[in-house]
Amino acid sequence: MSESPSAPTREDALALDAADPLAAFPDRFEPAQGVVAYLDGNSLGRPVAGTADAVARLVRQEWGTRLIRSWDEGWMTWPTEVGDLVGRAALGAAAGQTVVADSTTVLLYKVLRALVDHQVAVHPHRTEIVLDTDNFPTDRYVSEGVAAERGLTLRWIDTDPVAGVTPEQVAGAVGPRTAVVLVSHVAYRSGWVADAERITTLAHDAGALVLWDTCHSAGSVPVRADDWGWDAAVGCDYKYLNGGPGAPAHAYLAFRLHDLPTLRQPVQGWMGRRDPFLMEQGYVPAPGVRSLVSGTPPVTGMVPVRLGVEMLEAAGIEAVRAKSLRLTDLALAVVDAWPAALGVQVASPREHARRGGHLTLRHPRFREVTARLWQRGVIPDFRSPDGLRLGPAPLSTRFVELWDGLAAVREELEREG
Ligand SMILES: *Cc1c(COP(=O)(O)O)cnc(C)c1O
Repeated sequence: MSESPSAPTREDALALDAADPLAAFPDRFEPAQGVVAYLDGNSLGRPVAGTADAVARLVRQEWGTRLIRSWDEGWMTWPTEVGDLVGRAALGAAAGQTVVADSTTVLLYKVLRALVDHQVAVHPHRTEIVLDTDNFPTDRYVSEGVAAERGLTLRWIDTDPVAGVTPEQVAGAVGPRTAVVLVSHVAYRSGWVADAERITTLAHDAGALVLWDTCHSAGSVPVRADDWGWDAAVGCDYKYLNGGPGAPAHAYLAFRLHDLPTLRQPVQGWMGRRDPFLMEQGYVPAPGVRSLVSGTPPVTGMVPVRLGVEMLEAAGIEAVRAKSLRLTDLALAVVDAWPAALGVQVASPREHARRGGHLTLRHPRFREVTARLWQRGVIPDFRSPDGLRLGPAPLSTRFVELWDGLAAVREELEREG
């Protein structure tokens, strides 16, 4: 089969690595024995080197020796301390608006419930949650649960799975009945970057609040939650923030929504109470964003989150985004040069402004191809029905690694099916 002359060569990829201002970062991760190309940083980021030692230090010193005294010696404030770090490095959020707690799913539930209950309390006719059909399953299922619990209606935006939610679609869906709009900043499948500023403004003009899901944007694309007038956001810390499997998630709540008597998250545990150790009768929310906390903070799980987010801060999100676009540019150039007979389609936006950190390719045989790739240490992921996702995390991925991974994808497709 003939190649288009513009197909990037392996030497081109090596040249991109040589010119990469972030070239030192891949060596700052735990080595991944037997891995040829890790292309799934958007699903589970790699551990930063030193993570194992930091966890061991927590176990041996803080937990093992200081024991319960460690709560007073620091642990108690970690949810807001690590939250502020995530806010600063990944969300464009001034200190005091972000916490780290729970799983993404649980935080989504808590924040969505708090926002809709507030809206309904203030405007009883606002009984709709607007969301899109291609949002991540947990976002859709949590919304269904909240709607059933509170007698609300879901208003669905039908999204193009190759693109994502547009401001025009949001403008057409919001109105005097809208309580909350729930959108992923970067779509988990296509990688579409929603126009977060315009969508927020449009929703606000209609009197709605917006909850942003930052799972695929935090640590990958710049987020300016404060500048864009965001109300609230919830996202994962184990994807581009390298916080480790099941790491506690982050939630952002804008200052203007703090301490409102009508805005209460539903899981009223003792750790989100004002002065929890007074053990008093009756729940009174802690001031500020701390009220989003429910129970004892997941301290062990926050150790890797700290290291991951500190690394992001050292690199800077703008440099990360610039490399991310160079990585996906390379991948698109490679795939575009594949013979049409191979039958691979790109199911992600091409324009930089709308393209997130990952790409989805489509082919009917990708399920079995992914299984074979995993066996040879090339690790993208498969998303039903026929999508191969490539999430080259800029801090841990070399251009040549991406090139080698794509060469393996092509090789597996060219084998007899
Ligand atoms: C990964 C992801 C989740 C995961 O939620 P968990 O509670 O951590 O399992 C939720 N929403 C989106 C958009 C995601 O990409």
